[in-house]
Amino acid sequence: MPEYCDVALPVPLDMVFTYRVSADAIPVVGGRVLVPFRQQRMTGIVVELHDRKPSVKIKTILSVLDASPVLDEQLLRLGRWIADYYLAPIGEVFRTMLPLNAEFKRAVAYRLTKEGRLALHLAGVSGSSARSRRTPDEQATEFRVLDYLAAQEPAPGEAIPVREETLRSGARVSKLILGGMVRKKWLAREDVSAVRDASRTVKIALLKSADGKLNDNQRQLVDRLAASGGRVPVESLQTLDIPRSTLGTLVKRGLIDITTEAATYAVSRSKPRPSFELDFNSAQQSALNRLREAVEARRLSGILLHGVTGSGKTAVYLAGMRAVLEAGRSAILLVPEIGLTPAVAADLHQIFGDQVAILHSALSDKERAQQWHRIKNGEARMVVGTRSAVFAPVTDLALIIVDEEHDSSYKQEETPRYHARDIAVVRAKMANAVVVLGSATPSLESYFNAKKHKYALVELPDRVEQRPLPEVEIIDMRQEFQETGHEQVISRKLAAEIKERFDRKEQVMVLLNRRGYSPVVLCRTCGKTLQCRDCAISMTHHKREHKMVCHYCGYTAPVPKACAECGSEYVYFLGAGSEKLEELLHGMFPQARIARLDRDTVRAHEDFERTLNALSEGELDLLVGTQMIAKGHDIHGVTLVGVVGADSALGLPDFRAAERTFQLLTQVAGRAGRGDSPGKVILQTYFQDHYAVQYAARHDFTGFYEKELRFRSWMHYPPYSALANVLIRSDKLDEALKWSGTLGKWFEQNRHEGVRVLGPAVAPIMRLKRDYRYHFVLKSPSREKLNATLRAMLAYATAHKIPRTQVIVDVDALWLM
Ligand SMILES: [Zn+2]
Ligand SMILES: [Zn+2]
Repeated sequence: MPEYCDVALPVPLDMVFTYRVSADAIPVVGGRVLVPFRQQRMTGIVVELHDRKPSVKIKTILSVLDASPVLDEQLLRLGRWIADYYLAPIGEVFRTMLPLNAEFKRAVAYRLTKEGRLALHLAGVSGSSARSRRTPDEQATEFRVLDYLAAQEPAPGEAIPVREETLRSGARVSKLILGGMVRKKWLAREDVSAVRDASRTVKIALLKSADGKLNDNQRQLVDRLAASGGRVPVESLQTLDIPRSTLGTLVKRGLIDITTEAATYAVSRSKPRPSFELDFNSAQQSALNRLREAVEARRLSGILLHGVTGSGKTAVYLAGMRAVLEAGRSAILLVPEIGLTPAVAADLHQIFGDQVAILHSALSDKERAQQWHRIKNGEARMVVGTRSAVFAPVTDLALIIVDEEHDSSYKQEETPRYHARDIAVVRAKMANAVVVLGSATPSLESYFNAKKHKYALVELPDRVEQRPLPEVEIIDMRQEFQETGHEQVISRKLAAEIKERFDRKEQVMVLLNRRGYSPVVLCRTCGKTLQCRDCAISMTHHKREHKMVCHYCGYTAPVPKACAECGSEYVYFLGAGSEKLEELLHGMFPQARIARLDRDTVRAHEDFERTLNALSEGELDLLVGTQMIAKGHDIHGVTLVGVVGADSALGLPDFRAAERTFQLLTQVAGRAGRGDSPGKVILQTYFQDHYAVQYAARHDFTGFYEKELRFRSWMHYPPYSALANVLIRSDKLDEALKWSGTLGKWFEQNRHEGVRVLGPAVAPIMRLKRDYRYHFVLKSPSREKLNATLRAMLAYATAHKIPRTQVIVDVDALWLM
């Protein structure tokens, strides 16, 4: 029997921790254990069992939570790969891979100490201390807490821990005061976190007899049970509009029995749609054939499916998954954040029945854990979800599809900073599976890999039913300014085209990729702009909510009537966001039915879907919005798309700006003309000669990629070199400066063959969420060398007491801001 085990814990440290195994329960590699860590209890993943005696004093495992691994051998390997590639702590990687937080309940309790007891006693004798700096209210609360705890003791002087929630409501006390009492040593704080009962159960109602006299409510309940074959989960009876006592009465009369059973998660048993026939054109059919052949070959293969907007990629994905299901194997479909609407979910249930698990961001922790178990048990072999679904614990994985693979929501912007598309490729390799990357605007990286024959390139060059791609007309906004003498938001041409569509009862979409009313508030007297308290970012005016908002940290402030710097009343609100655009359009077309889609109007998927449905049903004439309106929807009535602000990114110092702009323009243009009438796009720009704008207007993908690849090659940017961003942050400016100086010197003194280091430099956003920020950009044609340099840098930082959480390493960073 192994004596020790190494456990990966979710803490920001690049190591695992050794514990002693207790004799009564042996952990398994890949399973969870509960362990003491500092003053807390934590769950971690066992990565190794061994007999090597550690040189330091160690603790014993508190309990073994899983009898069999929750991470199988392949997922453990994948986790290690991620930790290594992204330089992320292994315990934090595993935490990201396992959505089982709901099974662990954090809890804290307080216990009365000797000092606390003494304080309580003295208060009874002499009243409160005269020198106290506390207010009488605070003192009263403190003694209420001491009293309350003393009263809970089973015998006088025998302190027991009382849970925080109980104490807070029982003694009406805030967390802050409890913290102060712990510091004074009047109370001891204990971690009493525990794992919830892992054996999940449900109550089932069983029909024993339907005879006897029944009132209406009782009849209804008995009928429901009879209709479901005599057994139904009690929970589902709540949908009947009858009092709860009815069930109890029937149980007493012996007509119904209640039993407790282990939950299986199989709630309904809907069968997959038997016939799944789609009308495929020849390009779709041959793409599907390619995919099926690759799946049958049972070895790694990568396919880049480049299909123009409206070419029917989704149908190919679903048919491919269906083939996998019929072969008794598993598939994962990854979709961008915004893509998983309830309507999509309904379609998926239609096609795959109960065999699909849908993992979207609106799931509660509990629901997420339930879906995870369904997948793990093999009940759901088709998995559809956003980024983290790439870790779904399916068995016999045959196919992973990444829809809209260029979408930036696949990159996690916190530790571990993985890119789900790249993880999909690695996972497919480990499983000898097929990975399909689909997009109308593939990322440069994927296109480059296809050119190098790492992926097979499969194209869907035409729209379904031979619909033409929309005509794109460019409006030069500098010229518009010269001719009208005003800075325009909506050009004369766009206004005329919109009117024409309204006259023909057709629909319009207008994109402005910036939310709020005005992005800048400027003082005309001193020239200062209104910045966020905690970030070096201009605050945006939100007119309807009547406040200023920082779009980076969410900080809000009142709308200024005068300049905060000089007191001048000449404050101007400049520029336009989607809220202002909507107002302008209402003014120009008072009769039109106009709605807006952006993060301010969409709080939940339901809002998003409701607005799109309204457009689809013809209840709207015009939809304005941010990039949200550009993604993937198929609305047939839209014949005109106006783009009034999508190219502002071209002015930013970001090497991906051209790629992003090209993708956004192409995607939004793709919303036009998806029905019987041809579409048109009016593209307003201040950068009319920029190649991203020109190629997007001509629908010339290859032209853009070739040009952009040349630029990347000259500048040694991805995909021609591996890139990492290293960010140093601290809420104290001198600390941020000192640390970045220390690392800067180290980079300079240690020549890193084949690795180019730029920096330290002030990050483009110099201050964010109170932190001052400096950064380095590292580039290397060799990923191994880049990785080794970063690893050595982190070790040096640790040795020089720079906290690990303040050095952020972002491998393959999408943003250098
Ligand atoms: Zn001023
Ligand atoms: Zn802010």
